[in-house]
Amino acid sequence: MTEFPLTLNPEPKAPPPDASLKFGTVFTDHMFVMNYAAGRGWFDPRIEPYHALALDPATCVLHYAQAVFDGLKAFRGADGKIRLFRPDRHAARLNRSCARLCIPALDPALVERSFRALVGVDQRWVPKLPGTALYIRPTVIATEPFLGVRPSESYLYYVILSPVGAYYPEGINPVKILATGEHVRALPGGLGAAKTAANYAASLYPAEEAHRLGFTQVLYLDGAEHRFLEEVGTMNIMLKIGEEVITPPLGGSILAGITRESVLALLGDWGIKVVERPISIEEVVAAIAAGTLTEMWGTGTAAVISPVGELGYKEKRYVIRNGGIGTLTQRLYDAIVGIQYGTAPDPRGWAKPLALPEPALA
Ligand SMILES: *Cc1c(COP(=O)(O)O)cnc(C)c1O
Repeated sequence: MTEFPLTLNPEPKAPPPDASLKFGTVFTDHMFVMNYAAGRGWFDPRIEPYHALALDPATCVLHYAQAVFDGLKAFRGADGKIRLFRPDRHAARLNRSCARLCIPALDPALVERSFRALVGVDQRWVPKLPGTALYIRPTVIATEPFLGVRPSESYLYYVILSPVGAYYPEGINPVKILATGEHVRALPGGLGAAKTAANYAASLYPAEEAHRLGFTQVLYLDGAEHRFLEEVGTMNIMLKIGEEVITPPLGGSILAGITRESVLALLGDWGIKVVERPISIEEVVAAIAAGTLTEMWGTGTAAVISPVGELGYKEKRYVIRNGGIGTLTQRLYDAIVGIQYGTAPDPRGWAKPLALPEPALA
């Protein structure tokens, strides 16, 4: 059934109805686990019943946040086949995050196999309703009980799965974002390019403030001049000005989104000019006023493509495209979702079937 040792959950649960699914509140029957010890390396990859972790109160991850994660999805296609979206890129990124946090490297091929094996065991949890998916959350935490500040000598790699609902149950919906220079998400040389716990801790306070003002997410500006766009909450940001798509370059303080990378490839295929360059909030506001900025959207695994309908900056609110969805925004969403559910051509093989092809019969 799986290439890894498997302990089946003696009390499997009934998955909730697809239509009731939200994001990240329900977990499946099993988890993937692997340990690391200094001098021994990574050992004992296995699948176990989903369970709580027992951690010594001194465990270093609880004090100094030496932790990384990633997030990707498995989709049940119109043809019934389960596909993972770009698991190889997510495994590679997990390792880049590990390197920044002094966490020993994982074998990316093994990480990808851990996703496949676990989703295979819990495949009845992959929801069927259009727009739903099984979210895959690989995580690494430092487990040494030790209060000194240095990298841990032991780690736990685990993967949990959560069936998630359609991000926008009625199709894609524009969001309102607040540009702020007051709070900074990450600085060049800091942790911004890693998917690591501390970045999200830093984002909670500004996000709460934005919610109070009626915005969905925060558009972070650069930490030095508080002028240049960085990213939106947990999404990368893109704008269409004139005939050009502009997105901030990956300068070390921005997370390299797999959705971002996928969108840039599609735009290239479609012959649309893309420029990765710093873009200031003054330029964005001027382009909205001039009517040349016609579309703005965020990219990320959770929502795929999120149109921006309103931008707040310095007490002013700028409505983009009357708060509606741009044609390019919609085309990108349809193209990626089509690949994920196996209803559109996938020339690069981004959506990887769960079951690898059977070897041809001799
Ligand atoms: C995960 C994440 C993204 C989006 O990355 P995807 O690979 O497209 O899901 C963007 N920004 C931040 C801060 C993130 O954590």
